[in-house]
Parts: sequence; structure tokens; C-alpha cells
Amino acid sequence: MGRTFSERKLVIASHNQGKLREIRDLIGPLGIEVVSAGELGLPEPEETGSTYIANAELKARASAEGSGLPALADDSGLSVTALDGDPGIYSARWAGPEKDFALAMQKVEDRLQEQAAAGNRDRSAAFVCALTICWPDGHAESVEGRVHGDLVWPPRGANGFGYDPMFIPEGHDKTFGEVDAGWKHSVSHRAIAFEELLKQVGLEKPPAGAGGNAG
Ligand code: IMP
Repeated sequence: MGRTFSERKLVIASHNQGKLREIRDLIGPLGIEVVSAGELGLPEPEETGSTYIANAELKARASAEGSGLPALADDSGLSVTALDGDPGIYSARWAGPEKDFALAMQKVEDRLQEQAAAGNRDRSAAFVCALTICWPDGHAESVEGRVHGDLVWPPRGANGFGYDPMFIPEGHDKTFGEVDAGWKHSVSHRAIAFEELLKQVGLEKPPAGAGGNAG
């Protein structure tokens, strides 16, 4: 186990609305007050790390230093087996400055078609999520969670965000774009990483239906 988290307030070091919504859902039942980096006017640091955890740490550190509060950051992405792990830590960047995920999904599909033409029909992928909590004194705790699945084409469903409409988690038949947020939280990389982080910093998840400030 790492350092115990005993504070009552936490900055979420993300400007991504989809992630913010999911992280707020996950933290809600713990009764911890959360504020986003955007609400505090904190800048988004450049993601110069070469791993998910390195990028989560640099984002959490920047928000903890900038706010004087503990900060939680998520760095995540889609790692596609046949593409040697791409887009991976560049998942947001594949959508370009317009954050066009229809385009990003099309790029993944085009690369998969190239692979298929060369005889590699592997459409497996994993969503990966690194989470870091960093305290204002610089101490950080990090974890990683992943969910394996397969990519479908065309994309299906309008829920979720990013690459959700083309990803079906292993053992299921609906994409993350077709299911509701509660269902996604029962299997997602972010929910798995979150559970791991709670254990690592000594926080207890209250039993289902125990209330809190979710919603
Ligand atoms: P970053 O962590 O800010 O570098 O961005 C991660 C990118 O990965 C997001 O913008 C999404 O495109 C993608 N991503 C991460 N988690 C998910 C998810 O749960 N569903 C769909 N796409 C995701």
C-alpha cells in the first residue's frame, strides 16, 4: 500500500469532458469534494512522457503544484495489437486539433485494413488507463488498468466518448458507445484503475446504494 489519502478535496487534472464525467461518477460515492483543473484556471501541461503513467504523473504534478491541493490525473488511450500499440499515448492526438474522433476511428480502421490486406486480421485492442494522485509535496501514487476487446466497423452508438463506438469489451456484444455509463463503469479500464488506486491509497468504496454526492 502507498500513502493514505485522507484529504476531503481533490483536483481532477483533466480538461477532457468525457473523462471528467466518468471520474466524477467514480469519485462521487466517496463523498470527496472535487474541482476540475479547468474550473481553477490551471493550464494543461504538454504530455511529453513516453508511457501512460509518465503522462498521468506529469499532469497530476502540474495541478497539485498549481493548486496546493492533491490532484488526480488520468492518461489513457487505445492500444491496438495489430498496430504495435498505436494510437496508444497518442490517442487524443490522432483526433487532430478539432478533436474529431470520427476521423481518429477512421484512421485506426484504415490502418487495420492495410494490415488485413497484408494477411493480419487481428482486430484485438485494449483500452488502458493510468491514474496518478499527486500531493502538493510532490509525492505520487500511480496505477494502471486495462480492458481487452475487439474493434468493429462501422462505429456503433452515440454514448461515451473518444473511441468508444468501435470497441467491444471481451465477452460482450455491444460497443462502449451503445451501453450506458453505469454499465461501462462495471468493466472499463478507468473503473479497474480506480479500484486499484482506492486500494493503494487506503480509500474504501462504500457499498452499492450507500449514497454520497454522486450525480
Ligand atoms: P489523454 O489521456 O488526454 O492523452 O487522452 C486519451 C484519449 O484516449 C482520449 O481523448 C480518448 O480519445 C481516448 N480514450 C481514453 N479513454 C477512453 C474511453 O474510455 N473511451 C474512449 N476513448 C478513450
